[in-house]
Amino acid sequence: MRLDRHARHAFLGLGPLTLAAAALPALAQIPAQTPVTPAGKEALAVLEEAVAVPTVEGRGQVPVLADKLKARLLAAGFKPGEVAFTPVGETGYLTARYPGRDRKAPPTLIIAHMDVVEAKPEDWERDPFTPVIEDGYLFGRGSLDNKGDLAMVMATVMKLRREGWVPAHDLVLAFSGDEETQMASTAAMASAIAGAGKVDLVLNADSGGGTLGKDGKPFVYEVQAGEKTYADYRLTLSDPGGHSSRPGRTNPIAAMGTALEKVWAHRFPVQVSPLTKAYLEGSAPSAPAEVAVAMRAIAANPADAEAAAALSARPEYVGVIRTTCVPTMIEGGHAPNALPQSVTANVNCRIFPGNPRAKVMETLKGVIDNPAISIEFIDNGTLESIESPLRDDVMKAVATAVHQRAPGLAIVPGMSAGATDSMHFRSKGIPAFGVSAVFMAPGDEFAHGLNERLPLATIDPGVKQWETLLRTLLK
Ligand SMILES: [Zn+2]
Repeated sequence: MRLDRHARHAFLGLGPLTLAAAALPALAQIPAQTPVTPAGKEALAVLEEAVAVPTVEGRGQVPVLADKLKARLLAAGFKPGEVAFTPVGETGYLTARYPGRDRKAPPTLIIAHMDVVEAKPEDWERDPFTPVIEDGYLFGRGSLDNKGDLAMVMATVMKLRREGWVPAHDLVLAFSGDEETQMASTAAMASAIAGAGKVDLVLNADSGGGTLGKDGKPFVYEVQAGEKTYADYRLTLSDPGGHSSRPGRTNPIAAMGTALEKVWAHRFPVQVSPLTKAYLEGSAPSAPAEVAVAMRAIAANPADAEAAAALSARPEYVGVIRTTCVPTMIEGGHAPNALPQSVTANVNCRIFPGNPRAKVMETLKGVIDNPAISIEFIDNGTLESIESPLRDDVMKAVATAVHQRAPGLAIVPGMSAGATDSMHFRSKGIPAFGVSAVFMAPGDEFAHGLNERLPLATIDPGVKQWETLLRTLLK
């Protein structure tokens, strides 16, 4: 249900890569490379252990995985009082506090999620909950989303703790247990942490990350610093109905069709934020020429109608520059030979950060311009999104860590279309940055899908990336 790390491929900036990915063979030409460093091997061991626990909603397995992670942290030197699992219904969240030199300073959080999307064994080529290493990948549900980065974070902090490294201030691991579904554990975790005092920032292991080009070489690294607000609106129209042989003047299906046509045709105003400006400027050099021109033009002048039209014509870019609302479902009528008595439709919006959902609803009302049609917001627990102002210290530390494995790689801040755990922190005013250490080809992206897999070659450099990021940011 949630869009998270794969959204960066589906949504932002990767138009040319998306095309390139279609031409890739089923398995990209990544050399089989199992980890050779002790930390990389430990990350793989954590990952294999984690994949084998089916932390799918309803199976009550998140506490089982949390127990295993807790045991590993304690064995690496964390004190019992520093690691806690808090149940939330059948799931829950795990926190581990790594004490820093300044115990009073606001902590830095690393968030990830322990739960995974359902996977039906009969649909998969291999059992989704048995980790299988093949062709340079680890296959299994959650191997990518999000147990891969979770395992790399675990291995990194265990290594640092064993080595006696002490961060500048406290570092807190905060792993949620239902990110893919209700986010109740995330909400509880964010409230508990924010309630306990100020938080410096959140590093999210479940978004951002590196993309490999057609040649298998790193192409771009994205730091997720914002996401659009998700919103569904239900439109309802009723009518007395009657026999279809005697039509009157009104027909709710026809009227709803007119309303939805107007919604479909409506263009929300172009918006450019500091984040999307940095994204547009940073992505232009690697975009096709005509797209690059439009990106630069919009970044310089959001009122450039020609550039807006050029970007809006491309599904992979339209969402970058404006709120989008589209009809996604419709239901109406009750018999082939009866005038319909009611019709309902769903309009799904991805709202540019900073715009209240109530304001978008008012806009839709105005666009529809039919007082007989009622419109209501459907609350599915997602929150209104704000973007995190880019922080120099974070971007510099990310650059140091990323450039170690990929010298000179373009690092671009980005906004994703979906909702990750970050929104629960951003909505509390805590800046959050998606800094996954997974580098992969778009063609290898199977999060939420069949035969999900993680390229093994990303583990050693990924662990190193996390280590350098933490050592730089918290030195
Ligand atoms: Zn995820």
